Order: sequence, then structure tokens, then C-alpha cells
Amino acid sequence: MTVREQVAAAGARVRSKRGSVLMTILSVLLPWRAWFMRAAWTTLGRTIYAPTWIDVAGSLEPYRSILEHELVHVRQWRRWWLVYPISYLLLPLPIGLAWWRWRWEREAYLVQLRAGTSVEHVVDTLWRHYGWPWPRWAMRRWFRRALARGPS
Ligand SMILES: [Zn+2]
Repeated sequence: MTVREQVAAAGARVRSKRGSVLMTILSVLLPWRAWFMRAAWTTLGRTIYAPTWIDVAGSLEPYRSILEHELVHVRQWRRWWLVYPISYLLLPLPIGLAWWRWRWEREAYLVQLRAGTSVEHVVDTLWRHYGWPWPRWAMRRWFRRALARGPS
């Protein structure tokens, strides 16, 4: 199955952040505007927003592992509805101690770890770009144990 077919099967769609009024408004509210628009993928409900430079009409295969990560978030939205974004953004703290963000992201990052990304790289990404959600040693340990258990 192509990744585009996987997205469609999940009832989701991929849009560019370029030309999206919603993403433009969000980016203005964030201190890291350029990164948000040009590097970050963002999933809201069933819509996966791609960074502005990506041609979403072209092949999505180069972004397969990222899209599989975002599809985990589509399922989280569907299953948990508002519990997901509220806990993701705020609980117990917006930054520094965001256990729920770590909990949602670890499920999504497992997809990329199983596709070959290193634990160290993922822990570093979570630490730098997700507001220091959980201690690095604890994230490392959780991922190593999850990988040792194998696919659930
Ligand atoms: Zn994610």
C-alpha cells in the first residue's frame, strides 16, 4: 500500500501549510514561526499539514515514516477527541513536565524507531522541539524497553 493510500484509508488528508489560513494564524502565535512552517508537520483532527516547501500533490513516499507517525496522531484524535489536544498541550504543564505530550508522542515515534531511526535521535528531538516533556533518561529507557518487547 502506498502511504497516500494509507492516509486515505485512515480517512485523513494531507495539505500544505502554504495557503492555510489556520496554520498561518498558529504560526504567528508561536515564537518559532519559521520552524513551524518550514520544518514541522502538524496534525489537527484528520488533516495532516505538511511543511510549506513540500509538494503535497507529488509522491509522498519520501515522507512515509513521518506520515505513519502523523497517522498515529489521527487515530489518537479519533479515539480521544478533545482529551488528546488538551492533555497534549497543557498537562501537567505546557513545558518542562508534559507527561501527556510524551505519552502521545512516544506512541507515534515508535513507528519511526521501528523503521530504523535511533533512540538517541528521537530522544534528542523530543527534548529540543517538544518543550522538555520528560527526563531524557526516562524517555531512553521507555523506548529501549518498548523496542525489546517488539511490535504490540
Ligand atoms: Zn508527533
